[in-house]
Order: sequence, then C-alpha cells, then structure tokens
Amino acid sequence: MSYEAVIGIETHVELQTASKMFCGCPTDFGAEPNTNVCPVCLGLPGALPVPNERAIEWTVALGIALGCEISQHSVFHRKNYFYADLPKNYQISQFDLPLCVGGHLEVDPGSGVRRVGITRVHLEEDTGKSTHLGGGGRIHDAEGALIDFNRSGIPLLEVVTEPDIRSPEEARAYAQELRAIVLALGISDARLEEGSLRFDANVSLRPEGADELGIKVEVKNMNSLRSLQRALAFEIERQTALLDKGEAIDQETRHWDEEAGRTEPGRSKEESSDYRYFPEPDLVPIQTNPEAVERIRGALPELPALRRARHIALGVEPAAAATMASAGLAAMFDDAVSAGADPRAAANWVTGEITAHLNRTGDDPSDLVMDGRGLAELVGMIGGGELSSTAAKEVLIGVLAGEGSPREVAAAKDLMQISDESAIVSEVDAVIETHPDEVARMKDGDERLAGFLVGQVMKATGGRADPRLVDRLIRERVGL
Ligand code: ADP
Ligand code: ZN
Ligand code: MG
Repeated sequence: MSYEAVIGIETHVELQTASKMFCGCPTDFGAEPNTNVCPVCLGLPGALPVPNERAIEWTVALGIALGCEISQHSVFHRKNYFYADLPKNYQISQFDLPLCVGGHLEVDPGSGVRRVGITRVHLEEDTGKSTHLGGGGRIHDAEGALIDFNRSGIPLLEVVTEPDIRSPEEARAYAQELRAIVLALGISDARLEEGSLRFDANVSLRPEGADELGIKVEVKNMNSLRSLQRALAFEIERQTALLDKGEAIDQETRHWDEEAGRTEPGRSKEESSDYRYFPEPDLVPIQTNPEAVERIRGALPELPALRRARHIALGVEPAAAATMASAGLAAMFDDAVSAGADPRAAANWVTGEITAHLNRTGDDPSDLVMDGRGLAELVGMIGGGELSSTAAKEVLIGVLAGEGSPREVAAAKDLMQISDESAIVSEVDAVIETHPDEVARMKDGDERLAGFLVGQVMKATGGRADPRLVDRLIRERVGL
C-alpha cells in the first residue's frame, strides 16, 4: 500500500531579551552555571513573577509576520509536571488563550510553493538544563545529573503548525523559512546547535487519498536542519514497515540519535489533561492594545520573502537570493549594493567565497571582519580591471583575516593588476619579438594564437597584467 506522510512541527525559539521572562536575571549563554539565577527562576517559595514586556512584543511581532490574529485577551497558565530542571514543578505557559492564532507560512522546498498553516504562537518560560553523568550522557544509564538553572526562565516562544507538511524536504524548508524570519526580526540568535531554536516533529502516515489522520509519533532532539530532515525520513520508513506488516503505530515520543541515524523510543506521550493546566494566579491576563499591535506591525523589518523578491528583481538568481537570506548574509549584500557594487557580482561573492569561508571557520555572519562596503570595494576593483578574480580570492582571504581593506591588502600583497598601458607595452613588445612564427601565423588568420601570446605576457608579468588590456595591445601590434 502506498502512504502519505503527514507532518506538523512545534518550534521553540529562545528569545534574546536582555532579561528573563519573569525576573530580571540576565540571559547570556555560556555563563558560569547557576550564576544567572534569583528566587523567581529558582522557584523559591513566595517569589512572584513579573512579565517581560519586550518578550510579549516580540511574540506579537512574530505572530504578525506569520499572518496570525493577535488575541486581545491572552492568559498565562500553569503547566504542572515534576522534573529536576523545573524547580517550581510547573512551567508558566499558555494554554487555550495564546497570544497569536491562525496564521500561515509559505515555503518552497524547490518543487513549488506550499502553504503551511500556523495554529498558534504562544509564550512560555524555558526550563533549566540537565547534564547526565556517565552512561554516554543518556538519562537511563546515567550515574547522576548536574543542573544549570541559568536557562530556567528564559523567554521561550512556541510556534505550532497545522498538520499541513507532507515530506521531510517540506519540513526542512518550513524550518529554514521560520528561522530566517526569526533572524530578520532579530528576536533570537536561532542557533540549533546551542538549542536557542528547537524543532519537534510530529509525523503520521495514512493511506494515499485518505482524509483521516493516522496515529502520530513525536520526534525530538534534532539539532540541525539536516537532522530534522533525516529524522523524518527515518521515521516515515520505520512507520511504513510497521504498517506493511499489519502492526499498529504506538503514539509516543521518540528521540533522534544523530550518530546511529535512527529514532529511539522515549516516554509515552502525555495528554494535555495530565498537566492539570490552570490560569497562573500570580499574573493578570494580557490585554493587548490594538494601537500597540499596529505600532509593532509598522516597525516590522523587511521579511525574508519580500527581501528575496527584491533581490531577484535586482538580477540575483533565485537560489542565490534564498541562500543569502537563510545564511543571514542578505544585509551584507544590501550594504554592498548601496555602496555601489554590481548586484550579480556581489551575490556571487557572498554565496561563493564568503559562504565557503563561514563554512570553513564555523563563524557567524556577524563575526565577519569585512562589511558590505568592503565587499563593494573588492567587486569594484575586479570590475575596474584592478584585480583579477584569482587575485581577488587571495585579497578576500587577507581582508577576512583582518589585514586591512581590499585595496590595502591588494597593495601589501602586490596583487594589483597592471592596467597601466605604458607598464605593459614593453612586455608585449618583447613577447612579439621573441615569437615571430606565432605572430606570422596569427597574421595569416590563426586567432587562437592571440590567447597563446596573452599567456606569455601574463607569465612575464607574474600574472598581474590585465588580460583584456594585453589582448587588445597584442591585436593592435599584430595589426588585426
Ligand atoms: P499534542 O496534544 O500531542 O501536543 P497537538 O494536537 O497539540 O498534539 O499537535 C501537535 C503537533 O502535531 C501540531 O503541529 C499538529 O499539527 C501535529 N499533529 C497533530 N496530529 C497529527 C497527526 N495525526 N499526524 C501528524 N501531525 C499531527
Ligand atoms: Zn531570576
Ligand atoms: Mg500540543
């Protein structure tokens, strides 16, 4: 039998507010364990939460970007469960009255645009972080656990989709587009490997053409877009094999094991009634002010889809526009174009050498030493015949290593192309004099020899002559 995959994704986004969701503790990543804590985020008796206004505004901003309706009346609930990294024994979250409901996101996995419904966007607080000791870091055979409460209480936004996704590729495209929007809004650093962006994927199968949904499995623990796609592909295969054998699918949570390349059973899935949700009595409901919502809407930055469309209109290839947006390099490109760079050339450098540099070093675009103006200078030097594209790659390496501006690096490394006619004429004349046969055959109409003679001049100048200029001079001298 042939099956259709049905996928819905729940995404957690750690907001990069300066302070936590319900207290004034700082949120910086990598601080000494248990130093960014206070009675509120340690869950000490009697401590009272105070909501973070900025976190609410950012949740509304993402809701608007996803075309959601912003609720005028929204409530925080207590989600009750016992866990070592949750000292209050409940998480403050949202239940039936989230901040944002009913949006959508258009994604293109390469096979055409698909519309993914957004069920809701709500705000909650993160838990502490447990590190399991021994047993390969896995909970069931660990000897003990260390808990760091620095993460406890960091604002966490959750985006839930409708079960509208139909393939692992679409799931990845959705995750990538959502990440690009979060980055454009500047509300999170959205790093999957550091856990500030986390995807849980729900997947079920149903017979092709059926309307009813099958039993779903929730897959967790994917810390890259690639593992999200792989985990779903694995899970679809696993479920297909079970259904083909006539076996039932267990509704459960499974963990993706990146090294083994498979999902492993985790806990069985709780129902929402297990959490005994009730309204948080220490917080008043949120009443969103329509004027404030409009102010947030008016202040939204250009979103990735529009930005890509604008870049394509400038002559950039759609694939390059998508790469720049998802890699967080669109701003650099825009700055280069404003500084006068040719858009196509700038896009080539951004998606080529600069992306390769980031992949090699593992750096973030914000770590780049070169800005858009520097890129414009580099592209301008190539266009103006001052740098060959080979030399430009070497110049770029120097600039990215902090050795100076493109012009400074090119001068220091003696890579500037010789485009001054008077400096090349003597080399051209010398080559013509020492190659009388070739010159004669060229005069007889063998044009290919022009290339050979240009090569000789390039060799004599250590590759620094402008080949277009040399070619013109040779043709003039030979009389073509
Ligand atoms: P739960 O109560 O288990 O958290 P929800 O109804 O809240 O389930 O849905 C969680 C996510 O799972 C949503 O993204 C939703 O679209 C998706 N989902 C729900 N049912 C299915 C299904 N049968 N197959 C695949 N995904 C599903
Ligand atoms: Zn605190
Ligand atoms: Mg749910």
